[in-house]
Amino acid sequence: IEEQLRRAEKLSTMGELAAVLAHEIRNPLGSIRGTAEILRDDYRPGDRKYEFLEIQIKETERLNRVVEDFLRMARPQPPALGRCAVQEELETIVTLVANDARERQIALELAPPPRPPIIRGDGEKLRQAFLNIIINALQATPAGGRVTIATTLVPAGDHPTGCEISIRDSGAGMDAATRMRIFEPFFTTKPNGTGLGLAITRKIVESHGGTLAVASEPGRGTTVTISLPLSRGAEEERP
Ligand code: ADP
Ligand code: MG
Repeated sequence: IEEQLRRAEKLSTMGELAAVLAHEIRNPLGSIRGTAEILRDDYRPGDRKYEFLEIQIKETERLNRVVEDFLRMARPQPPALGRCAVQEELETIVTLVANDARERQIALELAPPPRPPIIRGDGEKLRQAFLNIIINALQATPAGGRVTIATTLVPAGDHPTGCEISIRDSGAGMDAATRMRIFEPFFTTKPNGTGLGLAITRKIVESHGGTLAVASEPGRGTTVTISLPLSRGAEEERP
């Protein structure tokens, strides 16, 4: 799991690095092309030097396209929104980490929601977000502790517009200074942490039109709450 998470984190860092690299390549490429065009205009078509400069211009264009394509591939994709059953995505992740929780002697509980919410979302990205938060909860919780995941519709009543997924742990909690920095990329208090989990998670949640809230008390535990809008027209699954 940790390995999987680390890989996902690395990938989105790659996307950012790719964007910087592409920028650094494109600018000098533009200068090469521009000056080659000026030189080419000193010669006439058919002249050897004209043809060489033509080649330089064509090749800079090709490089530009390669960079463009690479960027498109490496850049974090916008979410592919579709019908998404939040509870099912949570179940998948809980199954994935169940063994890990057992080994750490942590009670991991996924409460069944009274009405399972349906949202417009990208299941793969949301699973990554849930996984990041649940792994943090497990890492913060000592043996004998508890991690509870619950989902509610908001506002309560017949016309909910959103859902709230809360992941509560009975772990170490955070002091105010730590709490302030947890969304900073590369901020970590762990010897082997990347500090990217929550930064990525927040990006994912916000790309779904949602918000992320963290409440924590040192020594008592932490609750992370993800709020997401329900998909219109299909607020809930009829039982
Ligand atoms: P990482 O897990 O690699 O450190 P994250 O972005 O996931 O990076 O988390 C950043 C920091 O936020 C953690 O190092 C930790 O200090 C704090 N944190 C996150 N979740 C919790 C939690 N459930 N309980 C206590 N601290 C937490
Ligand atoms: Mg983490």
